[in-house]
Amino acid sequence: MSAWVRDAKKRKYAVPMVNVSDIEFLRAVLDIAFEEKSPVIVGIASPYFEACDQNLLECYIYYSMKRARTPYAIHLDHGRTVQQIVRAIKLGFTSVMIDASYLPFEKNVEMTRKIVQLAHPFNVSVEGELGRIRGEEFGLSTQSSDYEELTDPEKAREFVQATEIDILSVSVGTVHGMEYRHKVRVEVPLVKRIAEKTSIPLALHGSFKAPDEAIKQAVEAGICKVNLALHFWEPFTNGVKEALQTKEEIVPLERILESGWKNVREEIRYRMRLLGSSGKA
Ligand SMILES: [Zn+2]
Repeated sequence: MSAWVRDAKKRKYAVPMVNVSDIEFLRAVLDIAFEEKSPVIVGIASPYFEACDQNLLECYIYYSMKRARTPYAIHLDHGRTVQQIVRAIKLGFTSVMIDASYLPFEKNVEMTRKIVQLAHPFNVSVEGELGRIRGEEFGLSTQSSDYEELTDPEKAREFVQATEIDILSVSVGTVHGMEYRHKVRVEVPLVKRIAEKTSIPLALHGSFKAPDEAIKQAVEAGICKVNLALHFWEPFTNGVKEALQTKEEIVPLERILESGWKNVREEIRYRMRLLGSSGKA
């Protein structure tokens, strides 16, 4: 994957990573990627990875292989343990994130480096994280969810050099999860400074509720991968509500879901165009 994400860096667009949690969701992602001629990263978030049936995970991988007609990767989002990452690699994931950003710098380097040594022989890309993004952290951090530590450009340079990761997730003002009571911002000059110090693609997490213009500028400044998850909840909910506005007492399941997925598909398309990945595959 790192080769075509590097292309994003060169041509100044970002590849969307969509966290899926349903096979219909996966189908929507791959279909729209084809229609938009966009590369795409299919994400499986760590809590879902843990809860998901093993056969279903295999299904996601098999289905992507059969269905994808543009460059794609299957990515473990926010991997937490060596065991989890080994399991993902064995299953056929082509990209993993190790999030050890809650650990002190040296420990983060150590853990991330270990994953790189484990993954690279299998041609699996590794994303690391440096800094503390506000919001939900799956309960691993001892800090409050209000705590924020912006990524230090010089430390980022050191981190990338020491770990040899392929992608770096940065803390530049965005917020993880639903805790967007804080104003979600993107510190574009900081993205630029980090990009200058590191030569690898940068990832933006927590961009839900970030203004479109800020996202565009961040991509221009060096963001090459944008994580998308919550962005699809509202369109889906609205679609379902629409299907339920009927006098019928029982509504066919397909009609309810289809109405939700239709909106999700349009949102994926919108995001691809915003990130500039449309037409790049
Ligand atoms: Zn994240």
